[in-house]
Amino acid sequence: MSGSIPRQFIDDLLVRVDIVDIIDSHVPLKKTGTNYTARCPFHNEKSPSFNVSRNKQFYHCFGCGAGGNVITFLMNFNHLSFVEAIEELALSCGVEIPYENQNPNTPPQQAKNKLLELQQLLAKVATFYMQQLRNHPQKQIAIDYLKMQRRITGEIARDFMIGYAPEGWQILAPNFNIDLLCEAGMLAYKNEQYYDRFRQRIMFPIRNKRGHVIGFGGRVLDDSQQPKYLNSPETPLFHKSNEVYGLYELLKKNPKPNRILIVEGYMDVVMLSQFGIDYAVATLGTNLTATQLQLLFRSTSEVILCFDGDKAGQDAAWKAMDAVFSILNDNRQVRILLLPEPHDPDSLLQTEGAEAFLQRIENAEMVSHYFFNHFTSTLNLNSIESRAKLASQAKPFLLKLADGFFKEMMLTKLQELMNFNVAPILNKETLPLPPKRYIKKNQNTRHSLERLTLALLVQNPRLVEKLEVNPIDWQALDFIGIEKFREIAEKICAVKPATTAQLLEHYREMPDEKILNILACLPILLPDEGIDAEFSGALKQLILHGRKNRLAKLQIKATTTEGLNDYEKGVLLQLLRETS
Ligand SMILES: [Zn+2]
Repeated sequence: MSGSIPRQFIDDLLVRVDIVDIIDSHVPLKKTGTNYTARCPFHNEKSPSFNVSRNKQFYHCFGCGAGGNVITFLMNFNHLSFVEAIEELALSCGVEIPYENQNPNTPPQQAKNKLLELQQLLAKVATFYMQQLRNHPQKQIAIDYLKMQRRITGEIARDFMIGYAPEGWQILAPNFNIDLLCEAGMLAYKNEQYYDRFRQRIMFPIRNKRGHVIGFGGRVLDDSQQPKYLNSPETPLFHKSNEVYGLYELLKKNPKPNRILIVEGYMDVVMLSQFGIDYAVATLGTNLTATQLQLLFRSTSEVILCFDGDKAGQDAAWKAMDAVFSILNDNRQVRILLLPEPHDPDSLLQTEGAEAFLQRIENAEMVSHYFFNHFTSTLNLNSIESRAKLASQAKPFLLKLADGFFKEMMLTKLQELMNFNVAPILNKETLPLPPKRYIKKNQNTRHSLERLTLALLVQNPRLVEKLEVNPIDWQALDFIGIEKFREIAEKICAVKPATTAQLLEHYREMPDEKILNILACLPILLPDEGIDAEFSGALKQLILHGRKNRLAKLQIKATTTEGLNDYEKGVLLQLLRETS
């Protein structure tokens, strides 16, 4: 965790950037009238219902309801946290974030600058390797390998930034800063000499989900050479067990994939993409970790683990259960796909084609089935000893599961297999069902006067001037939702936001965030020059209506046994005087 980011800095940042430019660099926008439109990146659609407003610095999709300011867009589009999105924005306009209350564990600015330097270096190295594939005198070996042996198209090579590390021990050093190359893991050291770690290999830049190159994988051109695959070592930038290969490329094509396939090698990812299966990522030579799964489940609800069918692959699949059980819950699905021996995805695709492979994905085994099958295939559950073994081996996994339906069903299944009540063993009572969430019914979408007035104000915060010139006498008014109306109006008076986007930022993760978003998106068909008059008119009517309401209510209350208190009597007199 870094320190917190000052509110003022975020406000300033939102003024400095233009949402149209930022979104346009991710999703090409078309100008239509005063707004910009595109096909929505957050849902599938044929005709564009995704709108971006430069005035409000706000986007909204009439199809799926997605909407927010530029920070929200970056968070959702690039799958970033709030802080990451701010960092990305700050980087894009070249300003430094003045973190407050810096956590002692946060890397100091110096270390951050170093990371940035390493990142920039690796971006250049990736470009360098791509150039070698085009220009190096020995490039033909690499091109032949990619084209003839792998049938990789230029388009795929470009998407994945595939490059070529030529033969030679001192290729990088003359072109880049040696100290940085060492820190980035690009050089190795032996016999008092530095030399290129990657030589005569096809190079796969490993990008993090933001698209920055953080390391490389290299594959030999000649299968007789070892090791066949080589990865960058751990560096300040590259932590193998936290990253997967291909996620950035995948999300660029489809930010909300229905499923993600995890395979073992980068060549598998590239080949799958080549065959049209562009939702695969690869682990980087380590066992699958919970962090990697969490990363994937931020973008999808189903993950399929694909392993080679040999002994090593089967072992790896079982080992993955540790990570899987620690992150599974009712909303996440994991399936297991073991390929027939001696294949990996690459060789299988070449042998049987994409259709057959897709069928295998379709038929992948549910993790629950795979898990219990692992025991039932090896243990003879007719004996008490084996059933006890089953319980003791399954227990550590089941205890990791988050409470919910899935856990309960897994426990029930275990009970069935053991023919024994396991709840006491697991030291837990049968789990209560999660409470059904209360779902709000669609509200009437016709704009009431209250809603229209407030929406105009939220969408054009400059109108607050009118409230300041003629302050509203809230005591003399009564209408539906007056408390909320007053709260929001007073907030706008206090914050004085330059744009809707800035105002919304003040409501991020606050109870009224949803209301504000709805008001910001409310379609009001008015030309810009008509807004001021419309607002003045609506406000005047609302006040008139509010006073009438208040007067009527006070008059009714005056006739009841409870009667009016002194304050209310004062308000009533004032209202009578003003309306007469
Ligand atoms: Zn949409």
